[in-house]
Amino acid sequence: MHEMSLMESVIEIVCQTARQNGATRIKSVRLDVGALSHVDTYALLFCYEAARYGTIADAATLEINRIAGEGWCLDCGKTVALEERFGACPNCKRHRVQMTAGDELKIRDMEVI
Ligand SMILES: [Zn+2]
Repeated sequence: MHEMSLMESVIEIVCQTARQNGATRIKSVRLDVGALSHVDTYALLFCYEAARYGTIADAATLEINRIAGEGWCLDCGKTVALEERFGACPNCKRHRVQMTAGDELKIRDMEVI
């Protein structure tokens, strides 16, 4: 499963970062997940609980921060909202929009004890 390997990497990174900073427990993890990134939030939460088991993050809460899709319309020459990958510009209805946000999956921050 795509989400499982993602969450395994997330847990690995946060545990490593926490240890490097002398922390013994992780209290919370916040992720930025783009609305156009094709990852399922429920699957992420489920995989997170499985991946954190037995690690110093096994009681850490997970907060998912959804990032709205955005693109640069070449015809309008401005940033527009993007509902889907390769979607049309809401102003001119053309498809010359380059995605600039909404595709990310990254660790925003974490809290340790
Ligand atoms: Zn446009």
